Amino acid sequence: MKAIQITQYGGPEVLLYQDISIPKPSSGEALIRVKAVGVNFIDVYHRTGRYPGKLPFSPGMEAAGIVEAVGAGVTEVKPGDRVAYAMQLGGYAEYTLIPATKLVVIPSEVDFKSAAAIMLQGMTAHYLSYSTYPIQSGDTVLIHAGAGGVGLLLTQIARNLGATVITTVSTEEKAELSRKAGAHEVILYEKQDFETEVKRITQGKGVQAVYDSVGKTTFDKGLNCLMPRGYMVLFGASSGPAPQIDPLILSGKGSIFLTRPTLGHYMLTREELLARANQVLGWVADGSLQLQIEHVYPLAEAKQAHIDLESRKTTGKLLLLPD
Ligand code: NDP
Repeated sequence: MKAIQITQYGGPEVLLYQDISIPKPSSGEALIRVKAVGVNFIDVYHRTGRYPGKLPFSPGMEAAGIVEAVGAGVTEVKPGDRVAYAMQLGGYAEYTLIPATKLVVIPSEVDFKSAAAIMLQGMTAHYLSYSTYPIQSGDTVLIHAGAGGVGLLLTQIARNLGATVITTVSTEEKAELSRKAGAHEVILYEKQDFETEVKRITQGKGVQAVYDSVGKTTFDKGLNCLMPRGYMVLFGASSGPAPQIDPLILSGKGSIFLTRPTLGHYMLTREELLARANQVLGWVADGSLQLQIEHVYPLAEAKQAHIDLESRKTTGKLLLLPD
């Protein structure tokens, strides 16, 4: 089969399109014929070695496809099922092996592209807004990178939960997309000081929660945007890692909370995975969550997808198609 392989960490050029053999499912595993693969920022961290793993490997943390074969003891899925998953490595390939307990059957109304596009970013937006800081109707929240993959979904969910949503984006074009997703206020954070703007918009009160996936360039000022006992939800590092802080700062800023969550800890059991995934897939099926699939690349062009994602020019979701 064809697969993208990484044999050494580095830039997009280390994503090699190669022939490797189709793996066989062991006990508890399913072999998936991959139909669509989601590209995520975490793939960049795997490629560069920021999150080191065992070389060589195929990157990719979410995909949708068809169960081709199952190993002994698998009861969750059967050959022919249309399935999707997230947070399992190896999706940049024509076939991949996934523990059956991590697979979710896709509703018939949802196609492979949509399923691959929603699993990781959709479940992330779900846990951030329902579990990490459960948004209440009437809250005001700040979402950085509001036109990004997670940003567009989180904005829609926060708005559906009754929040006033403030987002930050880098360009007018992205601002338009963010408004279309439901943002009430959009700040162009390359041109405007977002801390000043948030204070102006909230009349000095601040927001209940800041959802920060940008990190280095936004974290410090984001702490100043929170109301007392507000939540700083730092969930990414698109601009680089956030600076370290003294815990006493949290008290000084109004007894605020700081958390650094990751999706894996919000789908710890099969029940939790199914509840989260099925709700998100259901929203896609009934149209209450709109997907923005920006670009679809052949698997062989994974390098270009990474160049585009890192260039900061993309909006919404990028997908790779093995065939
Ligand atoms: P995005 O589509 O949001 O792309 C990243 C965006 O970050 C860019 O489009 C850009 O938006 C903004 N950005 C700001 N500064 C930079 C910079 N220096 N370089 C590149 N981008 C920058 O990506 P995803 O939706 O895939 O992921 C968003 C973040 O969330 C990532 O950091 C990812 O690791 C994290 N994440 C965390 C998860 C978790 O569970 N903890 C799960 C899923 C994702 P703009 O131009 O508008 O500034």
